[in-house]
Amino acid sequence: MKQKFDAIVVGAGPAGSACGYNLAKSGLATLLIERGKFPGAKNMWGGVLYGPSLNQLFPQFWEEAPVERYILRNKFSLLTPESSLSTEFTTKKFGDIPYNGISLLRSKFDRWFASKAEKEGVIVAAGLQADDLLWDGKRVVGIKAGGDELPASVVIACDGVNSALAEKAGLRSSFSPKDMKQGVKEIIQLPRDLIEQRFNLAGEEGVAWEFIGAFTRDIPGGAFIYTNKESLSVGIVAQLSKLAEKRIRADDMLEEFKKHPAVANLVAGGQLVEYSAHLIPVAGRAMMPGLYKDGFLVAGDAAAFVLATGLALEGANFAIASGLAAAETVIRAKKSGDFSEKSLSCYPELLRESFVLKDLETFKKAPHFLENPRVYSLYPQLVCDLAEKIFTNDGKPKERIWRLLKQSMKERVSFWQVIRDLIQMKRSL
Ligand SMILES: Cc1cc2nc3c(=O)[nH]c(=O)nc-3n(C[C@H](O)[C@H](O)[C@H](O)COP(=O)(O)OP(=O)(O)OC[C@H]3O[C@@H](n4cnc5c(N)ncnc54)[C@H](O)[C@@H]3O)c2cc1C
Repeated sequence: MKQKFDAIVVGAGPAGSACGYNLAKSGLATLLIERGKFPGAKNMWGGVLYGPSLNQLFPQFWEEAPVERYILRNKFSLLTPESSLSTEFTTKKFGDIPYNGISLLRSKFDRWFASKAEKEGVIVAAGLQADDLLWDGKRVVGIKAGGDELPASVVIACDGVNSALAEKAGLRSSFSPKDMKQGVKEIIQLPRDLIEQRFNLAGEEGVAWEFIGAFTRDIPGGAFIYTNKESLSVGIVAQLSKLAEKRIRADDMLEEFKKHPAVANLVAGGQLVEYSAHLIPVAGRAMMPGLYKDGFLVAGDAAAFVLATGLALEGANFAIASGLAAAETVIRAKKSGDFSEKSLSCYPELLRESFVLKDLETFKKAPHFLENPRVYSLYPQLVCDLAEKIFTNDGKPKERIWRLLKQSMKERVSFWQVIRDLIQMKRSL
């Protein structure tokens, strides 16, 4: 530990392990430190990794990674207290390898990912927390951890949503609760065949099911159920500032969600085996901190690289891609022997070459649109009311659908308000 490392990566989540792996692969002396007892010990998420980023690192990863299921079906439901309306999209293509999405459990996945970095030559130090940065004037030259000073040419902060290191580096201030969602999640164990019956699955197929509506009580947020081999990942996310303002507990919302008639049968008889809570940075580009300075880079949640469009939450793929972009930046800096801010300034360009900054730019207005409370209560209610009217057969003469829609909207929302919201949706999504 007394040696000077080329790079110290702080945090063995997907960003840190991806970054460390590629640094070591290029022959850089790399230390990856993780405060949890083992990588993944302190980590949580909903549970679906989207896109090809893992496959790009490890072709045929599914043969060795602890993959639970591949996501064949994407479902989306609107809930009122008593009713629900669901849509499902599925295509055989999602079953083609390398898969469009896979469900994973973080405690297994993060451990596996960090072990891949370790095999490539990274020194993984678990149970060690980075307490501070080491400085030489305005240049970061290492970290302080466990009472030791650990020098390095560059430090990469992959320390997650509350990145203390990015704050100490002066690249961000504390995030506002308005820009954060709180997530709470349970892993509910059920026999494999029961999961497959309840969710209409066979073999390794899986479902990613998103819900919005009644249970969040007007608070921007939603719920999810993702299928694992022998468990379900069931959780909710809700805007932190509103939870505080309305004095509502996110775990109470989760209980309410699990009791909803459209959900209760899916989780019935399951055994709670894990409970966790975590924050998510959801304001996108608007909350992005500074990304680099002399001897220092920020990646993953620490840089607020999360895409929330209301239909899915993507953070782990952004973490991996940004970890890789940070690694490439450092590899170039090592070649030139220059770890100054100027030398590291290619990092945003590399992020732009991947999807990370492009997606955040494309959906830069989505966080504002998703703050609209009508999205979470009024519109699910309207749509479910209309569906109820359409499907109710009470022996009376039927009305045209347009008239039924007008009845549902009456005294709730004006036609023009709906048009304004639709225009805002079009601009944002
Ligand atoms: C409820 C919820 C649901 C989500 N669902 C999904 C989903 O389905 N799909 C998806 O793609 N994304 C999802 N996300 C987002 C995703 O989890 C994150 O975007 C992703 O984990 C970010 O990876 P990271 O490596 O940047 O940070 P993290 O995974 O948070 O890892 C940071 C690591 O740094 C360590 N650490 C922190 N500080 C220190 C320190 N000082 N010293 C040493 N170690 C430190 C932590 O212990 C941790 O291991 C969800 C998030 C939540 C909360």
